[in-house]
Amino acid sequence: MASVKLSHVYKIYPGGTKAVKDFCMSIEDKEFIVFVGPSGCGKSTTLRMIAGLEDISNGEVYIDGHLVNDVEPKDRDIAMVFQNYALYPHITVYENMAFGLRIRKLPNEEIHRRVLEAAEILGITEYLDRKPKAMSGGQRQRVALGRAIVREPKVFLFDEPLSNLDAKLRTQMRAEIRKLHAKLNTTFIYVTHDQTEAMTMGTRIVVMKDGRIQQIDTPKNLYNHPCNRFVAGFIGSPQMNFYTATVNEANATVSIAHTDATFPCPRELFPKMHPQVRSGARPCVLGIRAERIRIAPEQGSDTAWCTVSHTEELGDESLIYGDLGTEALTVTEHGTEVVLRSVDDAPLPLPGCRIPITFDLSFAHFFDSDTGENVCPRIPQSNHLTVTVSGNTATWEDISIPLPPALQLESGTYMAEVPVDALANGKYGNFNIVCRETVEQKTLIHLRHGDHLLFTTATFGVGVTYTGLAPDFRKITWFQEGKIIQPPLLESSTLFGSVIRRRIREGGHKKTEFHLTVGEAELPLPDDILEELIKTAGVAILKKKLRYKIPPDALTVSDHGIRATVTRYLDYGAHKYILAQTETQTLLAETGAEIAGCICLIPDLHRLTYISDADDVILYN
Ligand code: ADP
Repeated sequence: MASVKLSHVYKIYPGGTKAVKDFCMSIEDKEFIVFVGPSGCGKSTTLRMIAGLEDISNGEVYIDGHLVNDVEPKDRDIAMVFQNYALYPHITVYENMAFGLRIRKLPNEEIHRRVLEAAEILGITEYLDRKPKAMSGGQRQRVALGRAIVREPKVFLFDEPLSNLDAKLRTQMRAEIRKLHAKLNTTFIYVTHDQTEAMTMGTRIVVMKDGRIQQIDTPKNLYNHPCNRFVAGFIGSPQMNFYTATVNEANATVSIAHTDATFPCPRELFPKMHPQVRSGARPCVLGIRAERIRIAPEQGSDTAWCTVSHTEELGDESLIYGDLGTEALTVTEHGTEVVLRSVDDAPLPLPGCRIPITFDLSFAHFFDSDTGENVCPRIPQSNHLTVTVSGNTATWEDISIPLPPALQLESGTYMAEVPVDALANGKYGNFNIVCRETVEQKTLIHLRHGDHLLFTTATFGVGVTYTGLAPDFRKITWFQEGKIIQPPLLESSTLFGSVIRRRIREGGHKKTEFHLTVGEAELPLPDDILEELIKTAGVAILKKKLRYKIPPDALTVSDHGIRATVTRYLDYGAHKYILAQTETQTLLAETGAEIAGCICLIPDLHRLTYISDADDVILYN
């Protein structure tokens, strides 16, 4: 029984394939975790790194709190079940199950006890004397499971174990593996490309794409609250319907491009929706599942015509396929196809006929047309407020707040994008806490002020119903007419540096030292960082100028280091910064007091992030 933790894990294969990028996850003891995603997304590689069958390029893997990066697979206390059962054909089932234990030189009685117990759990006691070739695929897979069980591991790893079985047997074995999990009460990590398998088995599912985690969630949350279009399309069958659409907040509707379809949109969705999307300034991708579309009794203002192309009867439900396009039944180029699920007994419409349908948009999803991100998420990223600036005072509704000296905004009206984590408990205004919503272990507070609803992830005392707020001006973006006038303060600045090797003589011995050169500054590179850099970027690091990120509180003013000239002093009240210009770049450093002129800055190299051109590769978090 064990927990498993992966911290910023990367896998870069020798050929350069980045198979896994920045995989971070904590798996609790006794969880049933499924890694799912299309072929090649890095599921097996991740599993194999946990097993120790594949080296970890960067990051850490912990089993039960112990770092196992350099622990041999056999010493990790895990057991792995593969797609091809890998049984020995010439020995009996009993011996196949006992094999690993004999190698470990366990006493015979102990081996006997474990084999019989596992056989009992799996219902294969009567086959113990048989050879694998005299068994069916399902029975062989049970023996493979048995071989894992007898090891009594802390963690079971499964790599597509059911892919070789036919559909019926697969369903049956899924149920058996679930029962096995309940019986053994151990951590299971299971890899599959089949979303149905993932949904029916996992307590939590990790959806991956191109080596990156897209979402980690329960099956229900993945289905109901996908974080992006990829997850929305990957999970669920039939696939979610997607349309280019325009929202109109003024009359609370959503119109679908290339069709006459316009459906009513519940107003409750608007507060969390991105303002450019809800105002219709920016089209989005509307996602809706087949069961949220129904056939209307008659045509009306909330219906659209669907021309039926074909239907599928599946017993307890039917799927109706059609097209919403105005030029129906031509080959659609605009993505106006629709699939809807019908569970009533009414006769199915015939191909070619037109039926009125309606979308229940309370269950719709809205995604950004470019990035695919959910633009109406359960936890919105920001509040969007119309703010008037006059002198050094910002006013929203009846609340006036002095601007910090760092912000030099011209008088006028702005749209301020205030992240939900930038509103803390403070002295400005009087907001009514109308709702405390728990989403993914975070609490989202809904604050009402007049007609406005604001969101924050700040914490307030239990029982508090009214509060004042204090904005963190460093995190706010100021817009005018859609253009950014004042971006938020940078979270980090960029450094360009090269690693150089220097051979020196010390007391008659030759020694090699490594330095990071940034401009003229040479910063001694500690061994652990050098090792991490080489593991991540390869030895090529010694020849190339690389890009690094450094947060402002990791740059300290000193009498030596990177030479720069202070160009600005930014006073944000509790936090003060300088912008310092080197020959090639601008650095942001947090300071205690105002400084000017020529200075030197020393970066804390343990807080550098190396950025490869293709991806962010994080060295330290
Ligand atoms: P999945 O299990 O999701 O199908 P894999 O983890 O097997 O994906 O592979 C992820 C990526 O790494 C793929 O692009 C694959 O081609 C590549 N890959 C896998 N194994 C190796 C290897 N031994 N050498 C080089 N590339 C590999």
